[in-house]
Amino acid sequence: MAESTNKKRVLITGGAGFLGSHLCDRYLSEGYEVICMDNLVTGSGDNIAHLFGHERFTFIEHDVTNFIYVSGALDLILHFASPASPIDYLEMPIQTLKVGSLGTHKALGLAKAKNARFLLASTSEVYGDPLIHPQAEDYWGNVNPIGDRGVYDEAKRFAEAMTMAYHRYHGVDTRIVRIFNTYGSRMRLHDGRALPTFMRQALNGNPLTVYGDGSQTRSFTYVDDLVEGVWRLSQSDFTDPVNIGNPQEITILEFAREIIELTGSDSEITFEELPKDDPKVRQPNIGRAREVLNWEPVFDRKEGLTKTLNYFKQKVLSQS
Ligand code: NAD
Ligand code: UDP
Repeated sequence: MAESTNKKRVLITGGAGFLGSHLCDRYLSEGYEVICMDNLVTGSGDNIAHLFGHERFTFIEHDVTNFIYVSGALDLILHFASPASPIDYLEMPIQTLKVGSLGTHKALGLAKAKNARFLLASTSEVYGDPLIHPQAEDYWGNVNPIGDRGVYDEAKRFAEAMTMAYHRYHGVDTRIVRIFNTYGSRMRLHDGRALPTFMRQALNGNPLTVYGDGSQTRSFTYVDDLVEGVWRLSQSDFTDPVNIGNPQEITILEFAREIIELTGSDSEITFEELPKDDPKVRQPNIGRAREVLNWEPVFDRKEGLTKTLNYFKQKVLSQS
């Protein structure tokens, strides 16, 4: 992408994470000055190491549940800080609730003080174990507030409510993206999500651990498509939530088989207990993204997974 210089400043919370670091790259390439803020609880300096020394890039190590100080003007805040993988948020239930609530409050307060646009990274998890399929933005969801996953789902639901309250009461210019399962380079091998786990297991010749009977479905989005959707939403004037995800739905068992085939592995599949409240189905209705952002995914799963395979090969090699 050609570099331009429009001298805009964006703060990306969670910028050292998987998605946040890809967003740092994108907004830099769009000419923004990027301030990446992260407490590195699940992110890593490795994800942004290539950006140190860039004249428009700054890293601030900070926990966004505490008062956020940024000097100078800000045009945009992308609020992506939060543990995101089930094993992370189950290990850090209180930090997850705090970053979704207190962290979102602090980031919105900063947006109000700086008169900056604010974009919240929400999630398909706000739909919980959905009773409507596929999920459109007007579905209110089916979440167990006191279940194990509730710490993440309810934190994000609260974050959406707080975002809309700042929009309605304080007139903050807000956006909400509901992100569906996204994959690509910079995911951690051991983050526990299905894709890195299956890739690691297949590349090591170990059995792939499918939870339950594997009939639950997900719809996987390649990271470049997600970044494009976030970019377009941040440049749009649309305030209501927008689903960004690839509607290509697959059962987890089929997905495991696909990864075995892609990697050329002779791994077997084993079945383990299904985690509590694991959603049985998930597929985005992307009618709204098509209509208001003229966005739809470009990479089908085969193409995205093929692009991601090389990254995981390197990761597995460097860890063995
Ligand atoms: P990630 O764990 O790689 O990134 C999250 C980043 O937030 C990490 O760098 C972490 O250190 C940072 N962070 C967490 N708590 C913080 C705090 N209190 N202060 C400062 N930094 C903090 O996860 P990801 O997959 O990149 O997810 C990024 C965002 O996107 C999250 O908000 C997540 O809920 C949302 N999301 C991701 C997906 C997905 O499929 N990857 C799906 C839906 C929503
Ligand atoms: N899953 C699995 N084996 C694993 C990890 C996950 O079968 O080793 C399942 C998990 O139970 C869920 C699906 O894969 O049904 C997607 O899980 P992930 O953690 O990637 O995302 P989420 O549940 O948040 O959609």
